[in-house]
Formats: sequence, structure tokens, C-alpha cells
Amino acid sequence: MTLEKITLFDTTLRDGQQTPGVDFSVEDKIAIATMLDEFGIDFVEGGYPGANPTDTTFFSKKRTQKAGFVAFGMTKRAGISASNDPGLSQLIQSKADAVCLVAKSWDYHVKVALGCTNEENLESIRDSVKAVVEAGKLSMVDCEHFFDGYKANPDYAIACAKEAYEAGARWVVLCDTNGGTQPPEIRDIVSAVIAAGIPGSSLGIHAHNDTGQAVANSLAAVEAGVRQIQGTLNGIGERCGNADLVTIIPTLCLKETYASRFETAIDKEKLVGLTRLSRAFDELLNRSPNHQSPYVGGSAFATKAGIHASALLKDPKTYEHVEPESVGNFRKVMVSDQGGKANFLNELKRRGITVAKDDPKLDTLISVVKEREASGYAYEGADASFELLALKTLGTVPDFFAVESFRVMVERRFDSHGRLKTVSEAVVKVLVDGETVMSVAEGDGPVNALDIALRKDLGKYQSEILDLELADYKVRILNGGTEAITRVLIESTDATGARWWTVGVSENIIDASFQALMDSIVYKLMKNRELAGQIAAE
Ligand SMILES: [Zn+2]
Repeated sequence: MTLEKITLFDTTLRDGQQTPGVDFSVEDKIAIATMLDEFGIDFVEGGYPGANPTDTTFFSKKRTQKAGFVAFGMTKRAGISASNDPGLSQLIQSKADAVCLVAKSWDYHVKVALGCTNEENLESIRDSVKAVVEAGKLSMVDCEHFFDGYKANPDYAIACAKEAYEAGARWVVLCDTNGGTQPPEIRDIVSAVIAAGIPGSSLGIHAHNDTGQAVANSLAAVEAGVRQIQGTLNGIGERCGNADLVTIIPTLCLKETYASRFETAIDKEKLVGLTRLSRAFDELLNRSPNHQSPYVGGSAFATKAGIHASALLKDPKTYEHVEPESVGNFRKVMVSDQGGKANFLNELKRRGITVAKDDPKLDTLISVVKEREASGYAYEGADASFELLALKTLGTVPDFFAVESFRVMVERRFDSHGRLKTVSEAVVKVLVDGETVMSVAEGDGPVNALDIALRKDLGKYQSEILDLELADYKVRILNGGTEAITRVLIESTDATGARWWTVGVSENIIDASFQALMDSIVYKLMKNRELAGQIAAE
């Protein structure tokens, strides 16, 4: 039996950007588009060219290799021709392969929001789709408020969808914009649309999660015949979020009820990258991953001590609905017995570190990691720090250098022109090869000054760290108030293209940053000697 294809459409960069607290820079957008493209999503929607400088810059180049690169915008305004509509021209002139137009399909919104007649709205849909098709781009139409519109006026909602389809839209996407529609309603309304003459192979679903059913609604739509699903990474989006592609993709791929009928661009091999994709995206958003996320959460395959754990060790399938490895996650048995130890040994092995199961240093390492994690360290996002901690505990890290002391000064004052200035200066004393070296540096802020001073003179190691670059610096406050604990995560890279993450935790942000910077430098020196970096080099 041939499998039917479900097309995957990601709108993280457009609808996901509506999430409170999320604001992507051009660099963020490029990084996310690349992640999605490499993972294998069919379409990546990037935003609104012409609407703001970030999106205009983003659409000045095609940002995907394989995925369709999609621009989003409105249908033309009533009363002017498609060729005279400035918004529509921006979409057509962008470097996108496809244009997704948002169209009103609820007569109430046509009257109130657009202030035009129902007939004028249909004409806008028709002429805008035709203009996109004539420009040689693939055309899609998001029918906004489709399900609520259908309930209010089914004939008009269907007329809007048909107008788009007949004008040449490759995909007509039915949107549950308010997110309140229930799965049986989705199924019935999609069936009515198909019965009215739009084939399911041209229909998409765009569901919001306001009743916690965006994923269920997307699957109900597929059940009724829809063949494109729109969603976001980790389900981000305004209010309660959009349909979570990170949940939908493995469900389609691993659950027999779908896998026996459908296929997506994400095959079993690509699916192994899912957990990494989800966590890397959270890192980019600077937020903690949700431990309870289906498939990819840290707790998704975790079992607490007790009868479950022992049964789990005998036969993992007894307590798992899919194999954790199939989505790149792993099993966690949270006990400090043989089971816990076995997990730990696996983690070390993954990094090329071998240690005997009965080595007392292993017990020391396990307790140090547990203690540190309790005080705020997060080694999941800081591979290099974990590796260093393991190697130090097992006694295999050379003493490259020692920092005798550092001092950071921040001065806020008015300069001679009466302008407010903040000056940061750091002094670092380092002991290398029995010799004390002192470096002083100014920087943009205290952490930057400390970084520059620390890396200014490392004696005989200086030439080795010249290509070390800090790619990213993230601060997370772990509990509120002024006595909060600060966790700093630093991403470093070097000329080989390797990337590694280090962590520091302290009540003092400078101290936390210092720990993470030190780890990064020591890791780099270890990596240069091929003593570390199994993961980073992969
Ligand atoms: Zn939406």
C-alpha cells in the first residue's frame, strides 16, 4: 500500500513570534530556519517582508536549501488592484519561494475588520492568489477564523476557501484562530469543505491550543482528509500556543494508526534528531525545556525508583510507549543504584570516557553531579562542563594555569560633556608555569572586561586560544528576589567549527560568568590535546 504524504509547515518564525517575551533577531531567524531546514521540514514560514526591518532583511535572501521558504502577508486591499497594492508587491518581490496569504473567511470580520463587502473580499482573495501564481511563486491561503466563520455562515466560509482554491492556491489552510474548536467539530467541518469540492490533498490545518487540543485537532483534520499540518517548534505561539510539531511529527512517524497510512519528510532516521532540535530551540529562546513535553522532555522516559524501575531494567518496553532512542531521547531511572550508575556510565561512554563500574571515583562523581545539580547547575545544556567535571574527578585534567585573583570594577559617572558613562575594568592575575602574569582590560560591561583580561595573556598557552570565540552568553535567574542564584551558560567555538557549552552558578553573576569562562578555556586546551571534545567534534 502506498503511503499518503502529510506536508509539514512550520510557522515558528511568524506565528511563534507572537509568543509573549519572544522577539527574534535576524540572526535568530537565520539560525532557526537553518535548524528546521536541516531537520527536513517541508515549508518554513519566515514572517512578513515589508512589515518591519527584521523581516525585510530576513527575506532579502533565500534562507533555506531544501525547505520551501514562505513569506506571509495580507490579501490585497479592496478598492485597489493587486498590482497597485504595496503589501502584496513586497511579498512577490521577496526572495521567498511561496507566499502564504491570510484571508478573512468569517463574514463578521469582513464587515468589521476590513470594512468591505463579502463580494469585495472574495475578489481580493481571487486577485491576490492570481498575482502570486503569475509571479511564479507557490500560493497558499490561510483562511483566518475559518471554523468560527463556518459556524456563523457556512456558505460564505466555504465560498472564501473555494475562491482561493479555484484561483490557483496550492494549499488552502483552515485556521482555528481562536483555538476553541473541538476535534469532532474539526472533523465535521473539514468533511463539509471536502464535500463542497476542495480535495483534502489541497487542504491544510492551522490549530491553536486554547483548549489543549491543537495536536488532537490537527490529527482530527488529517483523519478527515487534510494533508498539510501547520505548527511551531515546542508549540510556541500567542496565548496557549500553536500545534506542537515536536509532538505531531513523532506521532505520525511512530504510531501505527498513522504510520501505516501516512508518511512525512521526517523518516525514522531524521526523527532521532528531534530531541536535540527541541532543546536547541529552547536554548536559543533562553528558557528551560519543559520536562514533561511528550517524546522530548527530560521526564518523558524517566521512572522513579520502585517496582517500575526494576521492571523497566528487565524489559524497558513494559513501561514505554515508544523507544526513547527513536526520538533521540533517553531512558532515565532516577535511583542511585546499579540502574542510576548504568545511566551514568552510558553518559560517560558517549563522551569517550571509560571508567570501571566499581571504581570509587565513579561514586564520587555521581554525588558531586547530584549535589551541583541541586544547587543550580544544569549539565544537560553544558556538555563541556560536564565532561571537564568528570575528567577532573577521575583525575585526568592537567593543571594548565591557575587564576590567583581577579577584580572587576564598574564605574558609572558623567563625562566632561555631561553624558552618563559606564566603564568596566577587570584585573586578572594568572599563574602559568610558576610565573604570575597580570592583565588589565576594559570592556562593554564587567563580564566582557573579565573575559578580555582573562584571555589577554595566558603565557605559553596564549597562541592556543587565539581562535577561541564566545558565540553566546545566557543568564538565567533561578529564583526570584535579590538573593537569586544566577546560572550562566556560555557557548564557545573555534576555528575547527566545533561548539561547546559551559556553565557557571553563583549568587554573583560575575563569579558565575568566571566559572563558565574558565571551563571554556580549559576545555579548549584539553580539546587541542585531543584529551576532550568527543561530543563537540562530532
Ligand atoms: Zn495562528
